[in-house]
Amino acid sequence: MNTRRDLAVRPVRNGRGIVALRGFRRGATVCRIRGRIVGADAVWAYWRHGNTRRGENCFRFDADRYLDPEGEIGAWANHACNPNTGIVKDARGLKLVAIRAIAAGEEVTHDYSTLLGADDVWTMRCNCGDADCRRTVRNVAKLPLAALRRYRRLGVIPRFILSTRA
Ligand SMILES: [Zn+2]
Repeated sequence: MNTRRDLAVRPVRNGRGIVALRGFRRGATVCRIRGRIVGADAVWAYWRHGNTRRGENCFRFDADRYLDPEGEIGAWANHACNPNTGIVKDARGLKLVAIRAIAAGEEVTHDYSTLLGADDVWTMRCNCGDADCRRTVRNVAKLPLAALRRYRRLGVIPRFILSTRA
């Protein structure tokens, strides 16, 4: 995995996003999410100060901390309702893992709901273009049952998300 050689930030369906420059096999690590670990207060401050993009880009890291990918490629990771990667947390942090084969030229996407705990009230309009687009992205507790089961089977919902309660 060499982020600079394997991935690029390019224009995609909705603004800019991460595009694969080579193919990835199912199960391959596509990208590590690098950035700064910040508290929920820092994320709220981005919103309060009108920097909604930066707030939206933050990845939940555990029960009360977030990973702010500002300045890193992870800041361009877009949502899709039928994504080609999933979020996995390991000892080194968060990474995007291919949940199906990815071809060169494809946008690398993940499902934001897999990092939105049941206690998370944030929602987002979606225009990902998939036939099964949910239109509104909500927290993990509101995922359609089939999607929840599939993501759980694939291991792409971190444990700290599954253990959240509304
Ligand atoms: Zn969608």
